[in-house]
Amino acid sequence: MSGVSLFTNAPALSGDMAEVIRLFLGNVPLLINEPGGDFALTHTEALQEGLRVVTVTDGARSHETRESLTGDAVVDKRLRRRQAKLGVYQVLKERTGITPPWGSLTGIRPTRLLYANLEKGLEMEAACAELRRVFDVSAEKADILRQIVTVQRELSLPRADEADIYIGIPFCVTRCAYCSFLSGEVGKGTLLRPYADALCLEIGAALRLLEDTGLRPRAFYMGGGTPTALPPELLRRVLTAAAPILAECREITVEAGRPDTIDRDKLQALLDAGVTRISVNPQTAHDETLARIGRRHTAAQTEYAYRLARDMGFDHINMDLIAGLPGENLGMFRHTLDWLGGLAPESMTVHTLSIKRSSLLHLWQAQLPDGDMVADMVRAGAAAARQMGMRPYYLYRQKYMAGNQENVGYALPGHACLYNVDMMEETANVIALGAGAASKRLFPQKGFIRRAFNVSDIRQYIDRVEEMVQRKRELFLQDHDAK
Ligand code: SF4
Repeated sequence: MSGVSLFTNAPALSGDMAEVIRLFLGNVPLLINEPGGDFALTHTEALQEGLRVVTVTDGARSHETRESLTGDAVVDKRLRRRQAKLGVYQVLKERTGITPPWGSLTGIRPTRLLYANLEKGLEMEAACAELRRVFDVSAEKADILRQIVTVQRELSLPRADEADIYIGIPFCVTRCAYCSFLSGEVGKGTLLRPYADALCLEIGAALRLLEDTGLRPRAFYMGGGTPTALPPELLRRVLTAAAPILAECREITVEAGRPDTIDRDKLQALLDAGVTRISVNPQTAHDETLARIGRRHTAAQTEYAYRLARDMGFDHINMDLIAGLPGENLGMFRHTLDWLGGLAPESMTVHTLSIKRSSLLHLWQAQLPDGDMVADMVRAGAAAARQMGMRPYYLYRQKYMAGNQENVGYALPGHACLYNVDMMEETANVIALGAGAASKRLFPQKGFIRRAFNVSDIRQYIDRVEEMVQRKRELFLQDHDAK
């Protein structure tokens, strides 16, 4: 397909409509208010006697909605976008005969919409039904949201005087082909020490910030990158600097994602620091896939690292998998699930392959796998989790996901990761340290969130760490108006 022409008298909404077009047609070129596409969609918005009337047509089919103006600028803006997206969705659904699993939803966190329905006073079943009615979400996806929100409601919510603490280690041993994170390869390792120095300085400043704000640490998460790409002495140094924070946290997670970075010394450093949860991420049990996606380790190495961690006393090990990896079919994915079930981790995240613009897969012009096959893989993941006694507890979606599916975290009862839930639902303050880390301050009374970002370039971060400290102090110590 050479492209789609989208004519609209509200060009500000073209990005929203483009997201819906991608649900049906993938990454087709879009011509905004320009002829030349294989076919044209026309979106027209008009105000008539207190109503916003929106029509979308492809010439043969058309869809019209009428919404009353509420007078609340924020609500009206949301409804306006929704009307445009729904119009495009209905026309393309009819034109293509495709019904996307998440209906017209394109956002990252669909649980939010279910929570919003519950906050309106609806019971769970009615709230799910409303989600299906308004957005055409499938019964299967509405049900997983129901299960997730049910599990999340059993967890203790973050309090206003608490903050999660995040430390980013943006180094990896090699770059995975699907990766879009801002991580550097360890290479000769010359940046590791100065990076750890900068991080220790930021950690010291975070301790002062906690004292000055009265915030209490809640959940700690060290991610990246791959934290265990650091040599054991640096890992120990960073965790020792953070010890006063760790002592107060209810949960301490360190991603040990790449099995080829795990050894006894590093695991001991984590145990000595009181780490309660680690991730050992296989992604797949197939060595030929691992080689294809640039992960220079084997399934046997994953198994070794997992068993070593278990023998040394880790009692919460998480494992991540990806459905839809290049060259894999349903049988291969099922084999991976069986293999993982034999290892019996306490939690598992089933990701769906997404090809982000910044990934090597995108550079190689790799195509997303067949959507129906990936949907079956995702179903197989849910069934395997059930069989292991796990329940889904968080979910998020990304752009360019195979089959328009999602990423779901599953855990045995009592093993849901608080930090993951806090992040997905945006319910906690976050003090985030390291290159590319994003701190968040919640203003629950005013219903908004302010953020402060650390620079993502590793050298810049090292050189400008004092400035990063200052950004966080301004975020958390200054009065901010709800603007
Ligand atoms: S281990 Fe994770 S952060 Fe590192 S390259 Fe692979 S996907 Fe990216």
